[in-house]
Amino acid sequence: SKPVVAIVGRPNVGKSTLFNALAGEKISIVKDTPGVTRDRIYADVSWLDKDFTLIDTGGIEPESKDIILSQMREQAQIAIDTSDVIIFITDVKQGLVDSDSKVADMLRRSGKPVILVVNKVDNFDKYMADTYEFYNLGIGDPVPISASSRLGLGDMLDKVIEHF
Ligand code: GDP
Ligand code: MG
Repeated sequence: SKPVVAIVGRPNVGKSTLFNALAGEKISIVKDTPGVTRDRIYADVSWLDKDFTLIDTGGIEPESKDIILSQMREQAQIAIDTSDVIIFITDVKQGLVDSDSKVADMLRRSGKPVILVVNKVDNFDKYMADTYEFYNLGIGDPVPISASSRLGLGDMLDKVIEHF
C-alpha cells in the first residue's frame, strides 16, 4: 500500500491550507480561528513518480492552551503510529512556542522521519532569518514554505519522498 504522510502542528499554523494546496482541492476547512477541522481528512497526492496518502490530523481543534497541548500530543501519537513520514508544521509569524518544543520532543523520540516545515514565510527575503530559531527544536533543518502562496512546496515534497 501507499506510504502515509501526516501533517501535525498547532491550531492555526496552516495545516489545512497546506493539505488543500497538496490535495489540489479544498477538502479541509480553513478558518481564521482554531476549532474548524472536523476530523482526520485524507487525500491521494503524487509528487514526481511517488504516490502517497496525506492526512490532515487537525481534528476538532480547541482554543484553551492546556487542551491544545494534550490534543497535539494525541495527534502526534496517531501520526507516529500510522504514518511513514511526518510533516511537522510551525508558524514563522507566531515564532517558536513551548508546545512546538514538547511535540518535537515526542516526534524525535519516535524515530520516525520528520520534515520540519515553517509556514507563512510569504516573502523568503524578508522572513528567512526568522526561520532559524526553529533549528532549536532539534529535529532538522527548517523548510520554509508559504502554504497560501504555494511557495517552497516543491522543495518540501522532495524532502518528504526521500523517505519512501
Ligand atoms: P490549521 O488550524 O493548522 O489547519 O490552519 P488553517 O489552514 O486553518 O490556517 C489558519 C490561518 O492561517 C488561516 O487564516 C489561513 O488563511 C492562514 N494561513 C495559512 N497558510 C498561510 C500562509 O502561508 N501565509 C499566511 N500569511 N497565512 C496563512
Ligand atoms: Mg485545520
